[in-house]
Amino acid sequence: MPVTSEKELEKLIDLTESERRWKEDGKNTLPLLISDHMASMLSIPAIRKQFVPDALENTDTDGTMDPLLEEKHENESRLIHRYHNRVAFLVTDRCFSYCRHCFRRRFTGTLTGPATGEEIEKAAVYVENHREVKEILLTGGDMFTLSDERLDHLLSTFKAHAPSGILRFCTRAVAVCPERFTDSLFSIIRKNQTGAPFYLMTQFNHPAELTEDAVRAVNGFLDLGIPAMNQTVLLRGVNDDADTLIELCNRLLYNRIKPYYLFQGDLVRGTQHLRVPVEKGLEIEKKMRTELSGLGMPQYTIDLPDGGGKVILTENHLIGKEGREYIFTTPEGDTRRYPDPLN
Ligand code: SF4
Repeated sequence: MPVTSEKELEKLIDLTESERRWKEDGKNTLPLLISDHMASMLSIPAIRKQFVPDALENTDTDGTMDPLLEEKHENESRLIHRYHNRVAFLVTDRCFSYCRHCFRRRFTGTLTGPATGEEIEKAAVYVENHREVKEILLTGGDMFTLSDERLDHLLSTFKAHAPSGILRFCTRAVAVCPERFTDSLFSIIRKNQTGAPFYLMTQFNHPAELTEDAVRAVNGFLDLGIPAMNQTVLLRGVNDDADTLIELCNRLLYNRIKPYYLFQGDLVRGTQHLRVPVEKGLEIEKKMRTELSGLGMPQYTIDLPDGGGKVILTENHLIGKEGREYIFTTPEGDTRRYPDPLN
């Protein structure tokens, strides 16, 4: 059974004083829920940190509930149209485990439940009427908490209205609840594989999460020809060192999952103690870049507060221009000159 209370948690690990007091002042709205799969791994500090609530979540002085201003861009119920060419549809508020770093705390675990048939229909019609939308992110919460029947309805509705829209399955479930990925679930996905392709967007934050079962779940998608891309969140005390992330990226790549983004923590209330200074993030990125191939290297990215959008963070190698020559620094710190073409 998943862990939903401190009492159950205390049977598995000795809670610290701060972990025991996590909801003392009633400020913490993200529920405690840890799947069986993750509960069996709580002895690993990087897993514990991501899933065991802590009173530090109530002391955040910078975060806001909606730093990406998603509510402002909610053009239909649960449908966020922030970027011109893509939308995000909040399929459900439920997850198999609630990550303490969740960037959508305003919505996740609020007991609003799965989208209704009417909400799904309206979202699909919206995409049908907005030809500029090329991609639909099915997110939440976690779409795979839906029953097989609801999932089938969700996919078939979007396919009926927007067959040329690429559907991205944004999920943490392959990592936290791999047993969800049954033959019957994959047969529903296969049945709906018409028109534009599906993409699997995973969130693995630490190499320990790439268990045999998790890899098997991802393989189910890959075997259907669905590419897998990973989005890691940079988290203090979890993966804020280059060696851990290099190992993660190498293992992702080996398992046919492309490391896609390394996200600087969003400015979400309750996550300050998990955020990493940007300068440290840049140092980590620099070391990763020297040891990983282009294929294995994710883009270190920050989603700017107040809905500022995504910006890539990396060391600037172009340091100036003299005459028609650009001056670059090499990763080793030497300089090189690159001339503009003459005509
Ligand atoms: S699985 Fe995603 S939506 Fe759910 S709690 Fe974790 S980060 Fe938030």
